Amino acid sequence: MTNLDEDLIALRREIHSRPELAGEERETAGLVAEQLRAAGLEVTTGVGGHGIVAVLDASAGPTVGYRADMDAVDAQTNVLPFPLSDRTFDDGFASRVPGVAHLCGHDLHTAIGIGVARTLAQNTESLRGRLVFVFQPAEENLQGARAMLETGLVQKHAPSEFYAVHCAPFPAGTITVSPGYGLPGLDHMRIILPAGDDAAAAAVAAEVDKLGTVVFPRSIDEYNSRFRAVLDPEIAASIQESICVAQWTEQPEGAQPIPNVILRVWPQELHTELRQQVEQIAAAVGGHVEFPGDPFPAMVNSAELSTAAGRYLSAALGPESVAWCGASWPFNCEDFALFLHQAPGAQFYLGVADAESGINGAPHTPDFAADERAIGHGVRAMSGLLTDRLATLSADVADGRRA
Ligand SMILES: [Zn+2]
Repeated sequence: MTNLDEDLIALRREIHSRPELAGEERETAGLVAEQLRAAGLEVTTGVGGHGIVAVLDASAGPTVGYRADMDAVDAQTNVLPFPLSDRTFDDGFASRVPGVAHLCGHDLHTAIGIGVARTLAQNTESLRGRLVFVFQPAEENLQGARAMLETGLVQKHAPSEFYAVHCAPFPAGTITVSPGYGLPGLDHMRIILPAGDDAAAAAVAAEVDKLGTVVFPRSIDEYNSRFRAVLDPEIAASIQESICVAQWTEQPEGAQPIPNVILRVWPQELHTELRQQVEQIAAAVGGHVEFPGDPFPAMVNSAELSTAAGRYLSAALGPESVAWCGASWPFNCEDFALFLHQAPGAQFYLGVADAESGINGAPHTPDFAADERAIGHGVRAMSGLLTDRLATLSADVADGRRA
């Protein structure tokens, strides 16, 4: 383990011990800004809330973006209700904030982003262009990416591509690429039914449930088997569409209950048809559907850039370090989706599990734990990839393949 790896593990533990919810990442952002300034980057704070943009301007040439997210999880409401394993991993850096914890690995993502920035800042002679590091707040409520993008950061810095990693329950030391796949979109609906008709509410709930093709996993084994499925080409081929239904009832004071539906949907082209289906279900019992907003888009990784990244990483780290994913994970959404609307790119699954020591590496489970060796691995993978992308993009410009 290098000195940098050890520094980053210490940093991750510090962030881990004082987690901050979406929109409240003041201390985390302060720490990030301090680290990036110390590494010599040009840092802007307060971008779309507690967001940070840091530029590493190594030489004239193209720009590539790298994004990490910083917020923690509400451990009461935003965790899969699995039984706890008998292993606990309180090594002295457990969350000191009641009810809040880094159960989605954003503390690792932040540490890796800083590690990449530090590594590349020390190797500017090998960089053929500029890097823009984006440290995003408020991913868990899907607000932070939009808030940062609305400040005009893409117009200002003009990245040609965007990259990111997310922790996943694959073995530490691996990175998984998902060419053309990613994470589902999300649509929220409120169903307004005739007053006092409980039978209608029950009938609607039952019909809406039938739209689902996948159910939320009820145990870590079900969760992991679903994750393994996306790596098996044959199984993955059979799950090219996924619809995951969640329902709950809103109880306005003094008024009748309102059924709420959330559909997580892949591919996002299905949203229109699903809205019509839910409208028909409601209309059949004399009700109608309200849509509080447009569907939140799916995160779609570029097929071309994911494949190129997979090839680069196989050559750089060894083919055994790279896995290829042939379907989308159906449960969690991800607002990195919005960065990929601005420039093509990819998010990779960073393996953080270690079965032998009982580290499940499974985000949003109550006993999420991560193998910290994955931090250094992620830093080396992403530092290499970003260097390679700048080289490729500037060669394309020199050869006239790109403006
Ligand atoms: Zn996450």
